[in-house]
Amino acid sequence: MTARIIDGKAVAARVQAELKDRVASLSGAGLVPGLAVVIVGDDPASRIYVNLKKKACANLGIYSEEHALPAATTQSELLALVESLNKNPKIHGILVQLPLPDGLDEQAVLQAINPDKDVDGIHPMNIGRLLVGVPGPVACTPAGVMELIKEAGAEIKGRECVVVGRSNIVGKPQAVLLLAQHGTVTICHSRTRDLGEVCRRADILVAAVGKAGLIKGDMIKPGAVVIDVGTNRMPDGKLVGDVDFASALEVAGAITPVPGGVGPMTIAMLMKNTVQAAVCQAGW
Ligand code: NDP
Repeated sequence: MTARIIDGKAVAARVQAELKDRVASLSGAGLVPGLAVVIVGDDPASRIYVNLKKKACANLGIYSEEHALPAATTQSELLALVESLNKNPKIHGILVQLPLPDGLDEQAVLQAINPDKDVDGIHPMNIGRLLVGVPGPVACTPAGVMELIKEAGAEIKGRECVVVGRSNIVGKPQAVLLLAQHGTVTICHSRTRDLGEVCRRADILVAAVGKAGLIKGDMIKPGAVVIDVGTNRMPDGKLVGDVDFASALEVAGAITPVPGGVGPMTIAMLMKNTVQAAVCQAGW
C-alpha cells in the first residue's frame, strides 16, 4: 500500500480563500479584524513564524501590528504591553510568539491575555471551555489537524485515536478534540511503555513530539490516517516530522508531509480564530 498524501497547503489555501471573502464583507460593514503579534528577542525560527503570520494577515485583509521587543524586556514591560492590547479596540486577537526568552514567565504572560482575544486558544479559560464543550477559540494546531483528518475522509466516531505528545498547546487539546468527536482516545508521552504497540492500535495517529523519525512504519496500523505535527530541523537544514515518512508511506492509508502538512493549517486556523474573535467582540 502507498498512502495518500494529504496536502495541507491546498487545504489551508481553501480555508484562507473562504476567510478572505468573509473579511471583505466584514470590512465592508465596518469591522476590520485585527491581530497583534508580540515577539520578544531574536529567535530565528520565531522570526520566520511571525513573518508568515503577518503575511497571511496582509493576504486576507486582516489588520496586523507587530510588537518586536528586545530580549532584555522585563516581565512587567511585557505584561503592560499585553494589557494595552487587551484594551485596544482595533485588536481582536493577541498572539505572543513562543518560546519567550529565559527569565520571562510564559504562563503568566499567556494568562494576562483577555481570553476572548486569545486567538492561539491556549489560555486556561479556553482550554477549560474546550474540555466542557463551550464555544471559544480552539488551539490552532490541533484545530488544523482536525481539518486534515476530515480532508482524509476518516471517520473519528468509535475509532481508535492515538495522540503522541501531551503538551498544553498540541497534545492535550488534540486529544480533547478527538474525544469530542467520539474517538476512543489514548495519549502517549515520554513515559509510555511500548509506544509501538499503542501506536499500532490507532486508526488515527497524531504525532506531536519533536523527535525526528520517532514513528516508524512498523508502528503504524495498515490503512491508518497519520498526521505528523512534528517539525524538526536536521543538521543539513532539512525540515522533517516525527514520522519516518518513507516507511510510513508504505503502511498508512493517508499521511501528512513535513513540510506542507500541519504547518500551513496552523496559520490558517489562527486567521480563522482572529476573524471569529472580531465577530464575537463586535457582538455580531
Ligand atoms: P513539547 O516539547 O511541549 O511536547 C512534546 C511531547 O512529546 C511531550 O508530551 C513529551 O512527553 C512527548 N515525548 C517526548 N519524547 C517522547 C517519546 N520518546 N515517546 C513519546 N512521547 C515523547 O512539544 P510541542 O507539543 O510544543 O510540539 C511537538 C512538536 O510539534 C515539535 O516538533 C514542534 O516543533 C511541533 N509543532 C508544530 C506546529 C506546526 O504548526 N506544525 C505547531 C506546534 C508544534 P512528556 O510530557 O512526558 O515530556
